Amino acid sequence: MSNFRRDPLKGTWVITENQRIRQPREFLIDRQQITMRLCPFCPGQESKTPVEVFALRPDNTAANKPGWQVRVVPNKFPLLRIEGELNPQATGLYQSMRGIGAHEVIIETPDHQRSLAQLDLAETTSVLQAYRARLLDLRQDSRFRYLQVFKNHGIEAGAPLPHAHSQLMAVPITPPVIRNELNSCREHFRSTGNCLICDLLAQEIADGKRVVFNDGRFLVLAPYASCFPFELRLFPLQHNHDFALQNDRELTDCARALQDMLRRLYRLLQDPPYNFILHTSPPIQPHVGKPDYWETLARDYHWHIELVPRLSRIAGFEWGSGFFINPLPPESAAHFLRDTDPNLSF
Ligand SMILES: [Zn+2]
Ligand SMILES: [Zn+2]
Ligand SMILES: [Zn+2]
Repeated sequence: MSNFRRDPLKGTWVITENQRIRQPREFLIDRQQITMRLCPFCPGQESKTPVEVFALRPDNTAANKPGWQVRVVPNKFPLLRIEGELNPQATGLYQSMRGIGAHEVIIETPDHQRSLAQLDLAETTSVLQAYRARLLDLRQDSRFRYLQVFKNHGIEAGAPLPHAHSQLMAVPITPPVIRNELNSCREHFRSTGNCLICDLLAQEIADGKRVVFNDGRFLVLAPYASCFPFELRLFPLQHNHDFALQNDRELTDCARALQDMLRRLYRLLQDPPYNFILHTSPPIQPHVGKPDYWETLARDYHWHIELVPRLSRIAGFEWGSGFFINPLPPESAAHFLRDTDPNLSF
């Protein structure tokens, strides 16, 4: 029999089907391949992008020239612009403000051919270091309520350019998804004195059925109320609310877990398209009239990465009801992924 499951972090409900265990091959999709004549993210094409705001490159190389290992540039066609004031307005029941924000692209490797799953540990760590550097810089701008790092892999997941990259959007409003999580975490902390995610991780480790990777520092699991097949979340086991406060060793540990997660998916599902999103604490800013608004944030929130392979489409029932239907129980997804060898020879 199928069952309804609730996600304690998000408050979402999913109907998990378990009448028949489907095999991973039933979820494979035909990937669209994109070939480009001239890629603006390749070394030698630096003049095709806006001027870089960050790069990891040897000292003897010049900015906006080849030699970089990771390069961050503003999006050439940004959805949000960094100059100006927000000018919030109300027209009757409607609210609006100007599209102020930042929209940056993190080019993960100079190599056009390799995806993030194919980078080595040091290269993957460098990508995470670039995320950290940009978060630390952009949080100084008090107009931004949230800084969202995310990755689209494959055109089916919204990446029209095949060269490996992630993105960062700085937005003037806390996204509802994050606000939901922050509220759940704060409520749990108020009633128990504990971090919700630390409690959740302890329960998952004791149970073990949904854990895919655990090296004592980071843990990857298929969430109990997964909305999609092979959905995964990655957590530091040591409590920390803020990704940008992780040191280099911790970022290397994170990169190891991320690499393991991406490689298992790559092997099992033949390089599926996916989105991942970094969920980390918002920059702490005083809230007018609510002086204790963020008081327990450092103790009640716990950063993590959420990954959703894009193997299925949302249909009418999901759109209309907000209930998701997941044809693969996360216990089966975790089982298939644990049985997959993450060691690739690329
Ligand atoms: Zn390229
Ligand atoms: Zn925690
Ligand atoms: Zn989250």
